[in-house]
Amino acid sequence: RMYEREQLIRINKEAGQFFYNELTQNKVHTEASSYLNHRGINQEIIDKFLIGFAPQGWDNLLRYLSNKGFSPAIIHKAGLIIPRTNSTGYYDRFRNRIIFPIINIQGQITGFGGRVLDNSLPKYLNSPETPVFNKSRTLYGINTARQKSRETGIVYMTEGYFDVISLYSHGIENTVATLGTSLTDEHVRLLKGMVRQVILVFDSDQAGVRAAARSIEIFCKQNMDIKVLILPEGHDPDSFIREFNSDKFKKKSENAKHAMSFLTDEAVKKHGMSVEARLRIIEDMKNPLTSINDPVARSLYIRELAERLGVDEAMLLQRIGHSNFAPP
Ligand code: ATP
Ligand code: MN
Ligand code: MN
Ligand code: MN
Repeated sequence: RMYEREQLIRINKEAGQFFYNELTQNKVHTEASSYLNHRGINQEIIDKFLIGFAPQGWDNLLRYLSNKGFSPAIIHKAGLIIPRTNSTGYYDRFRNRIIFPIINIQGQITGFGGRVLDNSLPKYLNSPETPVFNKSRTLYGINTARQKSRETGIVYMTEGYFDVISLYSHGIENTVATLGTSLTDEHVRLLKGMVRQVILVFDSDQAGVRAAARSIEIFCKQNMDIKVLILPEGHDPDSFIREFNSDKFKKKSENAKHAMSFLTDEAVKKHGMSVEARLRIIEDMKNPLTSINDPVARSLYIRELAERLGVDEAMLLQRIGHSNFAPP
């Protein structure tokens, strides 16, 4: 097993090198370079994130790795090739895509993400799960974010590859992203020893707000301090920092809302403040509040909600305070 893991890490490293060389040295791929250029990504950032390009064609990577002595079986295990259905043999998983190697905290490439250059679908394609690549334990940017995160005690949690890269290139290096999956306990554990606070910066759309709400509960269970930075409608961190600048982003992050205020505000937006609405808000806040494992923090947020809604604190406590105990 140990040997297999090492083999897979070695293959990924070779594949990463292949994609990187295609982007930076093969002059044929001007469309890939100009795409990245359009999105504000310069050579320094390409080198930092080892960004690459998977050329068009069915077996460029397969041939490259075979020449390096890797068997099709192990290349397949690494998720880089797919068995043909109508004949024998394999073809490259990543074709005609910008490639983002996914690098763990030890600096090893564990998988890849690939983006199309146009509007075709699927927009992104990731490596499948392999013995070294598990999406629910992986955060894109963890290696580039580590140092600044430790220094500042803060990490920004975003949704996508370009969010991480774009914030980094604007001097906000302490940024990570999930890989298009929802946040898990294991993601939180990765960050917990590193920072005291997480600032969520999700895309400002319905999906983003929902993802933020789900993430808050998962973070609160592990007693993490969570804030939410809200971007103008339609923006994601990448588009925001490119349209405005890093000072505007930092200003917004200083005004980030605490997670519970964010959820309360969202509930108020949804329901209003009538008597019936306030009852529904209490229902909506029940789960998030009970997910706060620290009893002191929980009672402080319950008091805040009671004041905001103008209800008796003891009554609210009764509704919420004990609901994490199973009824007899
Ligand atoms: P871009 O700015 O290049 O359009 P994005 O990162 O803003 O990309 P979103 O649509 O906001 O893209 O998606 C956020 C993240 O979710 C992506 O970065 C990617 O990791 C993941 N994702 C999006 N679409 C897919 C897909 N079809 N398959 C797998 N993962 C996806
Ligand atoms: Mn989105
Ligand atoms: Mn984007
Ligand atoms: Mn986005």
